[in-house]
Amino acid sequence: MLSEPVTAIKGVGEKFADDLSLMNIFTVEDLLNYFPYRYDVFEIKPLSELIHEDKVTIEGKVLHEPSLNYYGKKKSRLAFNVEVEGIAVKAVMFNRAFAKKHINSGDTMTLTGKWDAHRLQITVSNYKKGAANEQAEIQPMYSLKGDVTNYKLKKAVKSGITDYVHEVSEILPAQYLDTYKLPDRKHALVTMHFPKNRIDLKHARRRFIYEEFLLFQLKMQLLRKLKREATEGNAQHYDAGSLRDFIGSFPFSLTNAQQKSLNQILADMKSPYRMNRLLQGDVGSGKTAVAAICLYASVTSGKQGALMVPTEILAEQHYESLSELFGEKASIVLLTGSVKGKKRKEMTAAIENHEVDIVIGTHALIQDDVNFAELGFAIVDEQHRFGVEQRRTLRDKGLSPDVLFMTATPIPRTLAITAFGDMDVSTIDEMPSGRKDIETYWVRDNTLERVLQFIENRVSHGEQAYVICPLIEESDKLDIQNAVDLFHQLTEFYGSKLNVGLVHGRLSADDKEHMMKQFATNEVQVLVSTTVVEVGVNVPNATIMVIYDAERFGLSQLHQLRGRVGRGEQQSYCILIADPKGETGKERMRIMTETNNGFELSEQDLKLRGPGDFFGKKQSGLPDFKVADMIHDYRALETARHDAEEIIEKNFLQENAAFYPLKIRLENEHLLQGKLD
Ligand code: ADP
Ligand code: MG
Repeated sequence: MLSEPVTAIKGVGEKFADDLSLMNIFTVEDLLNYFPYRYDVFEIKPLSELIHEDKVTIEGKVLHEPSLNYYGKKKSRLAFNVEVEGIAVKAVMFNRAFAKKHINSGDTMTLTGKWDAHRLQITVSNYKKGAANEQAEIQPMYSLKGDVTNYKLKKAVKSGITDYVHEVSEILPAQYLDTYKLPDRKHALVTMHFPKNRIDLKHARRRFIYEEFLLFQLKMQLLRKLKREATEGNAQHYDAGSLRDFIGSFPFSLTNAQQKSLNQILADMKSPYRMNRLLQGDVGSGKTAVAAICLYASVTSGKQGALMVPTEILAEQHYESLSELFGEKASIVLLTGSVKGKKRKEMTAAIENHEVDIVIGTHALIQDDVNFAELGFAIVDEQHRFGVEQRRTLRDKGLSPDVLFMTATPIPRTLAITAFGDMDVSTIDEMPSGRKDIETYWVRDNTLERVLQFIENRVSHGEQAYVICPLIEESDKLDIQNAVDLFHQLTEFYGSKLNVGLVHGRLSADDKEHMMKQFATNEVQVLVSTTVVEVGVNVPNATIMVIYDAERFGLSQLHQLRGRVGRGEQQSYCILIADPKGETGKERMRIMTETNNGFELSEQDLKLRGPGDFFGKKQSGLPDFKVADMIHDYRALETARHDAEEIIEKNFLQENAAFYPLKIRLENEHLLQGKLD
């Protein structure tokens, strides 16, 4: 049986099995599903097409007995000439003295190895007596651990296939195999290990890519359904009329993208399901405006709303702008770590008695002493800044509040449907009209003086500037020193002409806030900072963003920083000071100067960094696909998502016999009893 231990296979003993366990191979089935990570293709090509230093395969006639030389301890070199296309080519083999007796003058041989085009010489790594196959030979290459060699593994797989492959059964419904012209599981599996030709291999891979994506998407869709259904009964009956009036009181009308996202969110609120939605949009695209409307909707339905943001500064800014927007319409409080003692007690009591409609705050609002009377709607801003744990706590604060996550880091489509496959996603992909694109320049270190003069010039017109020094680790003293040094340098350079300020992570919250206020009120014109300004701060009068050592930031972060300017009427500028050594660094700078569009940028970032790196290592939360590649195979991913949605929506797993094997498979992997994260 496929579930037997791998030692059931002929030739696999205990020691071999121990090594295989390092590769997560325990059963026969594990071994059969352990696919090569690449394939070497041996194909005879004319000598003129062989590339210097490539691994090549040639076929020729041995011209004379090989000569064997020994050198050093146990080292040997076997050399002979073969005739290929009427030309003598030299073949050398190292440390394979035993091969001498297999190679005789007049033999036809197929040799594989590294090609030296200048000497017409091949350093043989593989040889075979006789002519090459008509077709290219495709050699599976497995990733290996312990003492396992590729040859040994291949042999075990072969033996496993011979004895057990008849037990491999199909899990995909026939209709999908038909529609997508995919080979059945048994044949595809054999082909993955021992492909006869490239075309078969391509189709076998297509099959497993689709299978992997479909299983993954089914799991996500099941989770999504579970999250929604676990919470029936929280429909919010908001007052559409009041909402219209509220929106009408804005000094602008909503963009189409804002309106569309708003409609999606309101539909979720009205439904009996709990919302679990991501709202993504570039900095300044108007997410907060949409959030405010939703908070108000919740208030008109008699419930409370909460907005959780990652920093105190940001919480205050939101508090101020929302208080202004709401006026008498709602009672809003600001709950941060600075609210302590008696004041905090009064505030939490008011929240518990429903004297408060909307709470804005940092993670202080998910502490144990905060109990909402009736939390209906919760927003988590810059959601990637919070851990899963914190997000869950907020959700658990209410009976089952609708939850909206907001992010200004646009997530590439391919990642959104994998990493956030269990969420609904709304996207604001349009900027309010009249915004000017930020002009972005990339300069070298030696032009600093010109940059400083440029700042001075803009400041004399009443504008302000950020100068960012990268802080890679929160605790990195060296980086803070960089910011301090730069601050002194700038203070000296400008003298009494303008005021320079400094903020970094080591300052107390009070000092930080004090400095930010001075900047917001233009008492300070140039603010030197580590990346603490990255999140959300709004100073519309700031028009210049200078980023030092810009090559140390990723594209998304650079774009976030750039989003701090361009918030007012004036033309804004972003100046990247960077001297990247590598090509990707240079490419990043170029991309920054070429596009202002966060979505385009995030797609490029994904290409440069790869999916694992995109979210940062700690919380990538991305699945490890064996055959599939999210970026390369994204079309298959979208197809699988679509199919998974249909399967769940139409309840095929329960009601359609063709889907029974798939259902069993999901059950075996415990995917049907999925729990909330
Ligand atoms: P985000 O939260 O996405 O960064 P905000 O909601 O804070 O964006 O909006 C940024 C600025 O644009 C705010 O000053 C806001 O008042 C303004 N704004 C929002 N929506 C519109 C719109 N449709 N038209 C014009 N200005 C808008
Ligand atoms: Mg915002």
